[in-house]
Amino acid sequence: MSETSSTATRSNKNPAGSWLVASNPTKFRAEEAFAVRSRVDWSESSKAHIDVDDTIYLYGSSPISALTHMCVVEQVGIPFEERINDDDFWADSNALLERKARPWMRLRLIHSFSEQERRVLSLESMKLNGLQHAPQSRKRMPEGVAELIARELAVVKNFWWVNQGGTADRRQDFQHLWAPLTAADGRRMRHWDSLDEAKAGDVVVHYSHGYVIGSSQVSKASSPMARPADFETGAVRDDIGREVWLHHFREFEVPVELEAIPLELRRDDLGEGSPFEHSGKVQQGYFFPIVSEIAGEIFKAAGLLESGPTDGAERSEASAGDPFAQRQILLDATDGKAIVSYRKEQSGLRKLLFGTKVTERCGICAREYPVQFLHTAHIKSRSACALEERGDWKNVVMPACLFGCDALFERSFLNVGPDGVIQLQGNYNETPSLAAFAKSLEGKVVRAFTPTNRVYFEWRNNQLG
Ligand SMILES: [Zn+2]
Repeated sequence: MSETSSTATRSNKNPAGSWLVASNPTKFRAEEAFAVRSRVDWSESSKAHIDVDDTIYLYGSSPISALTHMCVVEQVGIPFEERINDDDFWADSNALLERKARPWMRLRLIHSFSEQERRVLSLESMKLNGLQHAPQSRKRMPEGVAELIARELAVVKNFWWVNQGGTADRRQDFQHLWAPLTAADGRRMRHWDSLDEAKAGDVVVHYSHGYVIGSSQVSKASSPMARPADFETGAVRDDIGREVWLHHFREFEVPVELEAIPLELRRDDLGEGSPFEHSGKVQQGYFFPIVSEIAGEIFKAAGLLESGPTDGAERSEASAGDPFAQRQILLDATDGKAIVSYRKEQSGLRKLLFGTKVTERCGICAREYPVQFLHTAHIKSRSACALEERGDWKNVVMPACLFGCDALFERSFLNVGPDGVIQLQGNYNETPSLAAFAKSLEGKVVRAFTPTNRVYFEWRNNQLG
């Protein structure tokens, strides 16, 4: 195990704890502090056993009486003199002075609970879920409250990898997983037994032919099941097995090649259960756990990560009519723990193509527009692209403006010659306005044209025949 992954080692062997910590606004105005800062130092109590990487849920004392913030501990044992100076947020300066002799811990904000979430995570409902009385100081998170939070945030923590092998073309493989109990010689196989550890809500990534092609969520944990009629797996002694049901399978708009997952992560000795050989290649087998850091790299490469804390408003808008978009995952990313939410599948490509850009030039006419007026246009149509071509989004996709270029290109009024020069075809003279616009582009070199994507333009030309 390399030094850089020491955090992953710790959480594997000694799971980080969760704590309820009382936050009294008449002493320290945490609400205001976290509104403008991502890190706040908090005094430790002498008896506390809070450690780096632990999760802290701040409980806002009366009149708030609800969970307000979720944080992760970045550092402990900070002397008073070295803490972040946030005296402005101390409502009670005596309370601050009383804490002068204590060590402090650094909290990094992961998530501020929205008003709606606070109603669910109120003192009253926590009491119905195993909390005995309002938190004073700090205490370990009762299991029932942890479950309540997980349900409310729909936070996913466990990730699995399934080797779809050659069967990925069949839709049923995205609806359930099945493995025999034993191999032909009677041995149990770890990568089959692992199905029994998947829980409803866990996220599964599907791997096939060198690419992670999509993700789904476990809808029903493992149960005994005879081999489904539609299911083939190698040499198996009998038909007794177990089945895990999946739902919400989403094919990635941009499939993720294995190399997008950093080799160090694939090489790490993450235990027998890892889907990777020591060389970093994918090993033979069926169903494997993966650490959230790897899942994070996959979702990042697919353009599906919305990083940073999300607020309730953003989430409810994103999830309107699409429960899948509401899903959030807790990741150990290289830049720390974060709750991230999935974007809708359709926006993965936009995220990769535009990133955080506000404006961009049209790949055809080269005019600059706000990105909301640019479409992600496939030079070779997506349905005709092989997996590796879909993964080659840098070359196969270009921005095309909605003020005419995209429509003319999609409807094949624009033909791009071998040198990148625009030629017109079709009935572009149908009206004077259409003709005027089309003529304005004729003879220009397509801005996005490069020696590398030329083959994709060629494909389009051949389609036009
Ligand atoms: Zn344009």
